Amino acid sequence: MELPICDVCLKSGIFCQGCEKKLKTGEITPIELDIAIILYKLGDGKIGFKKTIDMGELLVIVTDKDQVGKLIGKGGKIVRAISKQIGKKVRVVGEDSDLKSVAKDLLAPARISGINIMYGKDGREKYKIRVKKEDARRIPAKFEQLNSIIKLLTDEETMIVVD
Ligand SMILES: [Zn+2]
Repeated sequence: MELPICDVCLKSGIFCQGCEKKLKTGEITPIELDIAIILYKLGDGKIGFKKTIDMGELLVIVTDKDQVGKLIGKGGKIVRAISKQIGKKVRVVGEDSDLKSVAKDLLAPARISGINIMYGKDGREKYKIRVKKEDARRIPAKFEQLNSIIKLLTDEETMIVVD
């Protein structure tokens, strides 16, 4: 997976026409540029990302499933550098991952004790994601925000509960 800014621009700090256009049109946000610069420095050119979802205090970085661990870095080193630079909490999730892994990566370090399927009045499936009570304060954003990110990434309706 590649970075949204080309290597030449990341190396020189001067933008080529293609990258400048992406920045001007908003195809790449200033935050995504910051992330690309950090990953270029810390990732040896091996770590990329697809897109980000900005929820205010929380920023979610979407990358290839097999790059999630690399992007987080040893002991969270890379994610911490990104978080410090952009002044937001950062979570990394894999593209096209299943509900369980998306929920786990998104809610970390809060632990999920179980996921149950429920059926709404309309007969639609909905998943109840249960988080342990002692981990409640570790949940990185408002429940509605997290539910909507999960919906965006997996197309599943969820309800996070603490029990
Ligand atoms: Zn460029």
